[in-house]
Amino acid sequence: MTNAWPHDDTDSLIAFYGDPRRDDFVEQNLVYAAPPWKMVLSWDTAHSVQRFLFHRRCKDALDRAFTAIWKIYGESQTRIEDVGLHLWGGAYNYRPIRGAHRLSCHAFGAAIDLAPDQNPMGHCKGHMPAAVVAAFNIEGAWWGGDFHTRLDPMHFQFARE
Ligand SMILES: [Zn+2]
Repeated sequence: MTNAWPHDDTDSLIAFYGDPRRDDFVEQNLVYAAPPWKMVLSWDTAHSVQRFLFHRRCKDALDRAFTAIWKIYGESQTRIEDVGLHLWGGAYNYRPIRGAHRLSCHAFGAAIDLAPDQNPMGHCKGHMPAAVVAAFNIEGAWWGGDFHTRLDPMHFQFARE
């Protein structure tokens, strides 16, 4: 659909998404996204996630991916939960990449983690369904399970390799 996402390096991300170190970054750039199915915090499943902050420039693409996934699972909350997609692992988070010094796509509000317990960072591709990966790929997102070094199969980002 679109390959317009910035390259995943700090200068390109700032040029496209703005500088997350600025005090007004959140106010100027982030909007609320709401998933079409019920989500809960993966680390506190009693806590529902009705909306979360995401960057305005990729929020529509995220919405389209979510809508496509919702249709793939027949708009069934049960089927979504069977594959763990109700478990929200995080989106906007001002932090460096673990083990690196540069800012993560999460610091720009341009990445989301899904079903983290089933898809831990490391050496395996986890259990993210191929149809879910495809729904994000259609929007030009890059799946962490396709990273070349450390795999991060819970992770989808709107920045390209
Ligand atoms: Zn992530």
